[in-house]
Amino acid sequence: MKSTEKNKKEDDLMEKIVSLCKRRGFIFQGSEIYGGLGGTFDWGHFGVALKNNIKQNWWKKFVESRTDMYGVDAAILMRQEVWQASGHVAGFADPMVECEKCHSKFRADQIQVETSNASGDASRLACPNCGGKLGEAKQFNMMFKTHVGAGEDSSSISYLRPETAQGMFVNFKNTVDAFHPKLPFGMAQIGKAFRNEIAPRDFVFRAREFEQMEIEYFVRSADWEKYFEYWKGEMLDWMEEVGIDMGKVHELEVDKEDRAHYSSRTVDFEFDFPFGKKELFGLAYRTDFDLKQHKLEYIDEEAKEKMVPHVIEPTFGVDRAVLTILLSAYTEDDSGEEMRSYLKLKPNIAPVICAVSPLLKNKLELVEYANTKVYAPLKAEFGKVAWDDNGNIGKRYRRQDEIGTPFCIVVDFDTLTDNTVTVRDRDTGKQERIKVVDLKKYIQEKI
Ligand code: ATP
Repeated sequence: MKSTEKNKKEDDLMEKIVSLCKRRGFIFQGSEIYGGLGGTFDWGHFGVALKNNIKQNWWKKFVESRTDMYGVDAAILMRQEVWQASGHVAGFADPMVECEKCHSKFRADQIQVETSNASGDASRLACPNCGGKLGEAKQFNMMFKTHVGAGEDSSSISYLRPETAQGMFVNFKNTVDAFHPKLPFGMAQIGKAFRNEIAPRDFVFRAREFEQMEIEYFVRSADWEKYFEYWKGEMLDWMEEVGIDMGKVHELEVDKEDRAHYSSRTVDFEFDFPFGKKELFGLAYRTDFDLKQHKLEYIDEEAKEKMVPHVIEPTFGVDRAVLTILLSAYTEDDSGEEMRSYLKLKPNIAPVICAVSPLLKNKLELVEYANTKVYAPLKAEFGKVAWDDNGNIGKRYRRQDEIGTPFCIVVDFDTLTDNTVTVRDRDTGKQERIKVVDLKKYIQEKI
């Protein structure tokens, strides 16, 4: 395929995903009815369900099923001293250039990459928007600043956290005092992070408000390499578990000059997005940088000495995980009469496990059977069960395919006499008759 054709196909794919997300109630533009607020998104019913499944799966694997991990849910607003100590006030900035003509703003390093500018001087490039002259690059701090309390002086400055990590470091002592963990052990947190990105783009990939799932794993300094490798493996396992297309995941050893100020080694997991190969998740060796900055230490009972543990940090962006899972799951099947698109989501990640339909919505006996004998017991068992009686059966299948529902169950006239229903498989389109009494077991086995 020629590269222009490939680019067109990839652009189309992003458009299809964005439009499916809106049409089927996954993700909407933030503040949409007032013209939208750049870099913010509102999540609809199925988007929340998908996101919750991803977060729950992560929490189960990395916190609940382990004995060495402690959960945290820290405040989003933190004192400015936290961000002074962490280095974010001084250094959490991206280089910004502004067009002198149309005043559009860009991240200098991004347009350099995109235009492969050999001189590396952003001011010599033309504005991608209007072709005008770009000004000098300036450092732009990406933290959202606000004031806590009624006074608006410098002592009341606070920041919305740009990473969840510091919420764990500042609770290191509390966690050690409350639980007395032995090294190695970790802290884990899922929560919102905020970055005033210069150029939010590519749907939820680069947003100004997003969620992170992060782990700070504390080790003895001599062990850092062993645990770095260990966490690389754990991260890859999880990606596969939630249905990310592993053929499109690449590891990038990040060069020293591109690493965050706290990191001595970083491996980025990149994904082949339709808009290019970009960072999906990251793994960093933060050394003892953060704990030292916060003047925190640990008493190593084995060695009977005070020490500062070193930190391995696996970090996952929830929104990038959602986008990647959607892109990995999106499938088009043109073998039938009309093209069918569906989300081949893993059943444990899909927002709906099964949809229940009476064949005809105006036949009371079908509706009653479907509701009381199929829908209600399945709903009580699995929760994520949808009732769908809108339009004809073909339309319902198309809708559920796009939501990624693995099974559609239809109650028809035969059901009333033989107590069996049709179960249609999303991926193959195949239908089989299953006894109503066996439905729970059937679905349980599949998930
Ligand atoms: P990028 O280079 O793409 O700006 P980063 O290296 O600054 O990302 P980290 O600071 O390592 O990102 O953040 C950890 C994770 O948080 C990323 O791997 C990504 O999954 C997610 N993330 C970071 N910035 C954003 C954003 N603006 N929107 C959505 N997710 C983000």
